[in-house]
Amino acid sequence: MSQQAQRIVLAARPIGEPKASDFRLEDVAIPTPGPDQVLLRTIWMSLDPYMRGRMSEGPSYAEPVAINGVMEGGTVAEVVTSNSDRFAKGDIVLAHSGWQTHAAVDAKGLRKIDPQLAPISTAVGVLGMPGMTAYTGLLEIGKPHPDETVVVAAASGAVGSAVGQIARIKGARAVGIAGGADKCRYVKDELGFDECLDHRDPDLAAKLKEACPKGIDVYFENVGGKVWDAVLPRLNPFARVPVCGLIADYNALTGDVPGPNRAPALMRAILVKRLNLRGFIVRDFASLHGAFLRDMSEWLREGKLKHREFVTEGLASAPDAFIGLLRGANFGKQLVRVGADRA
Ligand code: NDP
Repeated sequence: MSQQAQRIVLAARPIGEPKASDFRLEDVAIPTPGPDQVLLRTIWMSLDPYMRGRMSEGPSYAEPVAINGVMEGGTVAEVVTSNSDRFAKGDIVLAHSGWQTHAAVDAKGLRKIDPQLAPISTAVGVLGMPGMTAYTGLLEIGKPHPDETVVVAAASGAVGSAVGQIARIKGARAVGIAGGADKCRYVKDELGFDECLDHRDPDLAAKLKEACPKGIDVYFENVGGKVWDAVLPRLNPFARVPVCGLIADYNALTGDVPGPNRAPALMRAILVKRLNLRGFIVRDFASLHGAFLRDMSEWLREGKLKHREFVTEGLASAPDAFIGLLRGANFGKQLVRVGADRA
């Protein structure tokens, strides 16, 4: 084992799109775990759109990362040394140890992963936070009925790919929206969505009308922006909209956006169509974790649920990979392989 650890800290708060100089790679000593702590070696690191929010100050559901603080993030890691009776050297755990090769962390925040059940990287993907987001948001808020139409954007990504496939498992029609022909082909041909449309198509609104001849009953909101503009007129009375993410706006500059006030039109649509829009954060549904793992593992085993990983190599690749994620450069769940996976 190298005697040096590495970490990536937030060097500056981005204005608009993050750039490489907003991050800094540092060499540091491998930390020593204290009482009830373990030393972790990071194997897989998850990159997720929410990290853009942590880079900015301002009111949110979570505290921002401090300047010079280690970038936050979910990881799959190996226990190197343990001062806890709950974990032994060699255990593989799910942690939130951030963008670093090693971390000394409290044992109480860790969950053991069984490498026999599934590849360990799935613990931050289809069997982890993004999969849980899709499962709970769709089933608890979207509540698709058989033969209803479910629309989801970022459809080849970690959350969206699971949303559409779960909708199909529940007997609904799934229409995906994704960036480009390759992603759309994958969503339709490999994931089994009924249709997939390119959000860059200037005729998106007309194509969406064609793809949803009976209107939209559930719109799983992952992106906002132009996709939402195309979807709103197509929502059926009593449609449900789990508001999960608004990635099209994450890099928006702060301050008032010039333009007409569209809130009255939205409120009118909510009233006359009796829409149910509900924002959620995945941890709101923590009590459903057992049901999620049971159902999703079974669907994976049965081949009803497919997933795709998009891996970059080495901790140093994380800033560019993250900038790419916000632009749609990832094709599947964005992961960084920080250390060797021997599981
Ligand atoms: P993805 O793996 O889907 O990656 C992000 C994708 O967003 C990109 O690949 C890109 O796909 C798409 N995208 C980026 N900009 C735009 C745009 N302007 N218009 C349309 N699509 C765009 O990420 P996740 O699956 O991890 O996350 C999806 C959404 O879910 C995000 O908004 C995220 O914040 C949210 N989320 C919310 C959670 C919650 O608890 N509420 C938890 C987890 C995720 P493409 O090339 O197809 O455009």
